[in-house]
Amino acid sequence: MTDTTADFLGRLTAALPPGTVIPGPEAQDRYCHDWSGLAPVRPLAVVLPRSTEDVATCLRLCHASEMGVVPQGGLTGIAGGAQPVAGCIVLNLERMSAVEEVDTVMATMTVQAGTPLATVQAAAEEAGFAFMVDLGARGSCAIGGNISTNAGGNRVIRYGMAREHVLGLEFVLADGTVVRSLNKMLKNNAGYDLKQMLIGSEGTLGIITRAVLRLQAKPTSVSTALCRCADFEAVLSVLKGARKRLGPSLTAFEVMWPSFYDTMYGGLPQLRRPFGNGGGIHIIVEASGFDPGRDAERFEECLGALVEEGVVDDVIVAASERETRDIWAVRESVSEYGRVLGRIVAFDIGLPTTMIGDFVDAATRELAARWPDVRPLAYGHIGDSNLHLVVNVPSAGDHQPEHEIDDLVYGMAGGAGGTISAEHGIGLVKKPYLGRSRSEAELATMRRLKQALDPRGILNPGKVV
Ligand SMILES: Cc1cc2nc3c(=O)[nH]c(=O)nc-3n(C[C@H](O)[C@H](O)[C@H](O)COP(=O)(O)OP(=O)(O)OC[C@H]3O[C@@H](n4cnc5c(N)ncnc54)[C@H](O)[C@@H]3O)c2cc1C
Repeated sequence: MTDTTADFLGRLTAALPPGTVIPGPEAQDRYCHDWSGLAPVRPLAVVLPRSTEDVATCLRLCHASEMGVVPQGGLTGIAGGAQPVAGCIVLNLERMSAVEEVDTVMATMTVQAGTPLATVQAAAEEAGFAFMVDLGARGSCAIGGNISTNAGGNRVIRYGMAREHVLGLEFVLADGTVVRSLNKMLKNNAGYDLKQMLIGSEGTLGIITRAVLRLQAKPTSVSTALCRCADFEAVLSVLKGARKRLGPSLTAFEVMWPSFYDTMYGGLPQLRRPFGNGGGIHIIVEASGFDPGRDAERFEECLGALVEEGVVDDVIVAASERETRDIWAVRESVSEYGRVLGRIVAFDIGLPTTMIGDFVDAATRELAARWPDVRPLAYGHIGDSNLHLVVNVPSAGDHQPEHEIDDLVYGMAGGAGGTISAEHGIGLVKKPYLGRSRSEAELATMRRLKQALDPRGILNPGKVV
């Protein structure tokens, strides 16, 4: 450590309450990596603020000394956005975890940024509402991370991405300026909507410290089914039919190709397989409503019609919460890739929905031509045009040909007019490929925004743009 760095850490430690700054060598290993699979990096220090003032003090000092700061939430991000950067400090918001207010008239909840998503969901339920951002990492990820990545998840088809659930934000700019914009109103066109700039900016434009979230009425009925279809053409017919018949009550449409479905059931014997090994593409269809007497009937009528039309070959409607959990279990088993496949290269691409079936076939073919033993698993939020592809080359063991696989898949996605990130963000992992999805003018505008808000480049250096 240079004298200057030691001086800086001394000033930072003195300026913040005792126990806020943990020197890098003493910090727990969990702050040294996120879920991206990148090699751990030990930061100079881990700062654990308890208040917005702590965050502002930290950033003021970092700005003055041009010290890089990596913001962290629950560290479940997959793009490496929260991955520490050598020679920088980490600012983890886990101690800023509190539900501060539930306004039952405005249907809003004000929370601190480090609050886990599951805590937000539970508090909403307790107040008779629902918070409709939902994803498999709900127990570990934090709302500040969800907002900073503009997280998607399972219910986007009905309720939209995290952006749709945020009414106001409090955030701290790179120079320590606190911007309190804790708006609760659905309509507010007074000048630029600053929160939109922060949402999805992956910690590169400011640190989110508080959020006003939009709550929804909690549906009184939820119906879930697992459908099996012969091919992707049939999947598209089911999507069209379900949208037409269920309208806004269609809340999830999750598709799993046999490559994903059979591999995960094969690798995880604890999962209970609802159908035999009949092949085909499986879809989880979920509808939520407010008329328990009629909703289940309407759901079954919709599925019955799809069976009669010959687009669904087999269907199971969950008759209990246990069966609902069983249906979702395989879709939610993605945290077990390490156990089932070993090291993977993961993709979160977006493509026009109608092209996804051909894309999966073509990508599988191209990958197999380069790596004959390749295992490409396909699944995703297909109702939102979002395909997840997970690739493993067994013969490569711990040394997956990551860059070659990235080049191939991102080349194909870019060529098809798709996006290299539908929901996970860019972080470090996808930064080299951003130009495949964004024009020069778009990239230049992003850089101007970054320069204006963080002229010394201290916020999450080297990430996104
Ligand atoms: C099993 C599993 C399932 C998942 N499923 C989904 C899914 O369905 N949909 C989806 O979109 N994602 C999914 N993810 C990815 C991940 O959970 C999301 O990206 C999540 O929103 C990240 O939240 P986090 O708190 O863990 O953020 P982190 O990983 O800690 O950080 C993510 C990014 O946000 C920045 N950041 C964090 N907090 C702040 C803050 N307060 N202010 C400014 N910047 C901040 C970080 O610098 C980083 O760039 C999944 C991950 C796992 C492990």
